[in-house]
Amino acid sequence: MQRPGPLAVDPWLWSRTFADTWLAGLDPAGAGARQRERRLASLLTAAAGSPLYRQRLRAARGSTPPQLQALEPVGKDELMHRFDEWSTDRRVTRAAVEQFLYGSSRLADAFLGQYLVWTSSGTSGAPGIFVQDAASIAAYEALDAWRLRGSPAQGPPLAAWSFGQRFAFVGATGGHFAGVVSVERLRRLNTDPSIAPFGWLAPTVQTFSVLRPLEELAAQLQVFAPAVLITYPSSAAALARLQLEQRLNLRLKEVWCGGEQLSDAQRVLVRRAFNCPVRNNYGASEFFSIAWECEHGRLHLNDDWVILEPVDDDLRPVPSGTAARAVLLTNLANHVQPLLRYRLDDSVRFTGQRCPCGSAFPVIEVQGRSAHTLLLHGAGERPVTVLPLAVETAIEEGGQVTQFQLLCTAPDALELRFEPQVADANAAFARARRALLDYLRTLGLDSIRVVHGRGRPLRERRSGKLCRVCHAPHGHR
Ligand SMILES: [Zn+2]
Repeated sequence: MQRPGPLAVDPWLWSRTFADTWLAGLDPAGAGARQRERRLASLLTAAAGSPLYRQRLRAARGSTPPQLQALEPVGKDELMHRFDEWSTDRRVTRAAVEQFLYGSSRLADAFLGQYLVWTSSGTSGAPGIFVQDAASIAAYEALDAWRLRGSPAQGPPLAAWSFGQRFAFVGATGGHFAGVVSVERLRRLNTDPSIAPFGWLAPTVQTFSVLRPLEELAAQLQVFAPAVLITYPSSAAALARLQLEQRLNLRLKEVWCGGEQLSDAQRVLVRRAFNCPVRNNYGASEFFSIAWECEHGRLHLNDDWVILEPVDDDLRPVPSGTAARAVLLTNLANHVQPLLRYRLDDSVRFTGQRCPCGSAFPVIEVQGRSAHTLLLHGAGERPVTVLPLAVETAIEEGGQVTQFQLLCTAPDALELRFEPQVADANAAFARARRALLDYLRTLGLDSIRVVHGRGRPLRERRSGKLCRVCHAPHGHR
């Protein structure tokens, strides 16, 4: 039976999850590690209720009790293809979920009365459909509340989604995406306190489409007057420019960024424009809060709730300190659609070093989607792997510009585009081109062509995300 309305809050589950997450934050290597082991054992037991994972567990039977590393990894295509064999709740079928998503349901309605459903925008391949149980939603909310602001000692629970504050979410609103579903759930809990004992604590939240023209978006934000802006780094940087030009006057207490890579220059720009802290996190539709950024600007893996195994192209483990081609993600929170050793094509590096902030959560660096890594070479040159973040930094620092996109149109050709707001794009191009060529030369690349593209930067059609360094889509040239 389907119950209308958003997924309600279970006070017992919610309090326990918040308490556990707080304890793990105080002692990641002790309490956190014990929680991880307990959750992994319980996930492996739950996964036996999924026909798809039952096969894998049987194949790995050599290891008793079952070891995570003995399980065959899984990818999104297989899960979407075998959707009806995936869930531990046999009512969760492709037909039922699609009827729910594309029928009359509203964003953040409870599917089968007890789950949230979101879809990924399909950055890589087909869109994914992910069903989340109440325990995983509670975990995401606890992680946001405790760790989004840096070290656990820095604030009481609810510090993040504090009541009475106005939150503006600027993102993809044209579908059941993870960000907008989560935010919409909070908004609806606030407007319908009868369904949740904590409803009165919920903040005032409004969502705005990132695909709207910038000026229109700015005008709407000005009217709403948020205290916290939640958006992609590219959109935060564009709004920061308007604020600096005094065409926008927001009084923000915090900016939360996610969904794209946040560069140092973007962080400086946003902080300068709004004169407030910038919070950054790394997440995915498959696990919403994989890592949080501490006050030293480093990402710490939430390894009490999620396991990441860095691997190479053949899914073999890579040692600490080496950039992985992909990671195998195990979501310890969600039991309805288990994710064990799920391939996520992000290039992640475990630094293996302790952070000056003192947190024992492992420090990771995220280089972005492996698909965006460029392989460049001029005529007769050896192909060289070029990491997006390094190229972005070279352009930002040398070109003094943040609102750009670099498209790779051929192994020896790059096209640099700018947002229309960039003043004197020709001068910015000349500076950025020089810096870029200097950087490429340090890699042994001497004959790469860089041209000034006159079109606007290309955004992902559905999510509105901007990838600042990527391959030109097919048919572009
Ligand atoms: Zn740190």
